[in-house]
Amino acid sequence: MGAGKKKEKKKSRLLLPSLFQPRVLLQALRAIFSPPYTTKYPDEPYTPPPGFRGRVRFDAAACIGCGACVEVCPPKCIDMMDDTAASPPKRELIQHADACIWCGQCERYCPTGEGITLTSEFVEVGFRLEDFEERIEKELLLCEICGESLAPVDQLRWLVRELGPLAYANPTLMLTAGRDLSVVGEPVQTQGESVQRADRLRIQCPRCRRATALNA
Ligand code: SF4
Ligand code: SF4
Repeated sequence: MGAGKKKEKKKSRLLLPSLFQPRVLLQALRAIFSPPYTTKYPDEPYTPPPGFRGRVRFDAAACIGCGACVEVCPPKCIDMMDDTAASPPKRELIQHADACIWCGQCERYCPTGEGITLTSEFVEVGFRLEDFEERIEKELLLCEICGESLAPVDQLRWLVRELGPLAYANPTLMLTAGRDLSVVGEPVQTQGESVQRADRLRIQCPRCRRATALNA
């Protein structure tokens, strides 16, 4: 076959309509007899793949209210508020899903590992801002001397568990463990009174602990 004829045959193959090309026909036939790639959502529930980053949720039992997630959240979409006037005093954390970027930093740096999770929930529907809020409340412990916010009770309990016998080197942790064992009474506020040597064995913020240590 001459070079001219070969060129002509190649040209006619290229001009063949794509629908009649064997490769395209084969693909079309395969698509006709294959199951659909899409799901029948919402008639059939959809399960996202592992590692999917969906709606952020707190776990009331695992969260200790430490606020680490607030610190690491890049768009600052978790608010933390301490209400020392409430009875009992409380710390509230609010995560705003409408400002979340689903980066997963909160879950990654949560010290308990389970306090906050990016769930597989992917439906975000609501008519009010509150519909996009995830809230949690924790009882707050106050300094018995100055009345300032110290830490959530659950955070101190977690520290006692994590430190084991070492926790008894710190009077605040020792008293927290003692309260849970009912061998120590409830904290008593003595705001405004001058600190004494005996005050060293009380629940205190670091600033008051320093003051009582220096006074003793
Ligand atoms: S325990 Fe985890 S979820 Fe709770 S406040 Fe601390 S970092 Fe956030
Ligand atoms: S996933 Fe990222 S943006 Fe959303 S709350 Fe957690 S840290 Fe903040």
